[in-house]
Order: sequence, then C-alpha cells, then structure tokens
Amino acid sequence: MGYFGCHLSAGKGYAAMVETAASIDANTFAFFTRNPRGSRAKQEDPADAARAAAMLKGGGFGPLVAHGAYTMNLCTADPEARNFAAQVLADDLRRMAALPGNFYNFHPGSHVGQGVEAGIDYIVAALKNALAPDYPVTVLLETMAGKGSEIGGRFEELKAILDGVGSERLGVCLDTCHVYDGGYDIVGDLDGVLAEFDRVIGLSRLKALHLNDSKNPFASHKDRHECLGKGSLGEDAFRGIVNHPLLRDKPMILETPNELPGYAREISLLRSFES
Ligand code: FE
Ligand code: FE
Ligand code: ZN
Repeated sequence: MGYFGCHLSAGKGYAAMVETAASIDANTFAFFTRNPRGSRAKQEDPADAARAAAMLKGGGFGPLVAHGAYTMNLCTADPEARNFAAQVLADDLRRMAALPGNFYNFHPGSHVGQGVEAGIDYIVAALKNALAPDYPVTVLLETMAGKGSEIGGRFEELKAILDGVGSERLGVCLDTCHVYDGGYDIVGDLDGVLAEFDRVIGLSRLKALHLNDSKNPFASHKDRHECLGKGSLGEDAFRGIVNHPLLRDKPMILETPNELPGYAREISLLRSFES
C-alpha cells in the first residue's frame, strides 16, 4: 500500500494534523513549517510533537514531507534578505528535529538575474550551514517548472546543488506538474524521464513526490496545479506513477487545488489505481 497524503494546515499543531490525515485515509502529509507566504513560525510545543510522533508510528505512516515557505529565497539579490532566508532554513531544520526521521522540502530559489551559477553558490552555502548540525531530517530540493529565474527546472541544476553540498541528508522531491511544465515528458515516457533522472542525479536521491496535474500544456514553464485527471497530465499518468516499481514506495503528496473533501476523493482515487 502506497503512502498518499496532501497538504494540511499546521494551525492546530502536529497531533491534529495526524488525526486529520487519518480521517481522509492518508498515511503521510505535508505542512508548511511557517506561514507559506510570510516567515513567522509557530510557537513550538514539544508535548504535541511527541504525541504526533507516537501517533505516526502507531498509525503506520510513511515519512512526512514538510514544506519550506515560498518566500524563502536562498539566492535572492539583497544580502540582508538572503541572510534572513538562510536563517529561516536553519531554524526550520532545527524545528524538524521535534518530529525525527521526516523530510523537509523547499524550492531551491530564484536567482533574479544574478545567473544560475551565482544562485547555486548561494543555495549551496545556505544548505551547508543549515545541515552542519546533525538534525534527524533529510532535506529535499523540489524539481521546479523553470518559471522566470527559478533554479531547479533542470536535473543538472539540482545535481550541481547536491554535489556542492555533499551531504547524504540531501535528496530530491519530484513534482509531477513542475517536471512536465519543465519539459520532462512523464506522460509519454515516464521510464525515459526516470532514466534521465538516474543518469544525471541518481535515483537513490529521489525521496518523495508531489502529485499534481497541470493547467498548462507540456513544457509551458508555468506552474499552475490542477486536480488529478483534470489537466494536461491526465489520470493515466498518475495510474502509472503510483504503480511504478521505482516510485511506489515513496511518499506522494497532493498539492492540487482542493479542500479536505477533494483531497479525500483524490487519495481514494490513487488507492483505487494501485494494482
Ligand atoms: Fe513546492
Ligand atoms: Fe510541489
Ligand atoms: Zn507548483
């Protein structure tokens, strides 16, 4: 049985999220470590985290996939803002230690005209700093659609970050909408894209997936998520993904435009695909 889940609101704490996830037959989930568009983090509650950790273990959950704030741009041009983003990353990893053994995924960043190489250097420096304390968390770089000056739209860019940091606690989260928008044809040739991922990055680094359909056609570099089966990827693409021998054991997180009932429907759809 696969690990399927969706984004949940962290507002009522970790244990409440585990309960909500279980109520929609999810056995993993994602949450923002702080306000997704701001930078304010919640008050820490160790008792809640301990309760949640016990519930996850008892409930047969797979690894969770926390998500860094969208506003955290490790390679923005302003040095002060860049420094602040690096501090947010380091603090997020420290906070993840309350729920040991899970994933923390984030968008590598946008170089805003400074160039891909300069951007990658900043991202590498921030990651090296944040990973220096040995917190029990694996950090995931998200595959991006290549919108604007986003870094991570090409597998080679993610590989350059992985090589620059040189940590075993760093992996990749594959977002189906993003890679398809980015020009990797997972609809027509999933095996070919996975072979390319393996050749460039190495499949041992692939730790989790975001399952999203796309509102836009192949290679559009747009990044607009659609509900499963309603976009350009289509239902069959997801049937192939959930059953793929190289993917089926990874946590798969929905980031589709849904409220809880819609997520519940999509999780049951994904479970119905499993053969
Ligand atoms: Fe994301
Ligand atoms: Fe995503
Ligand atoms: Zn996206």
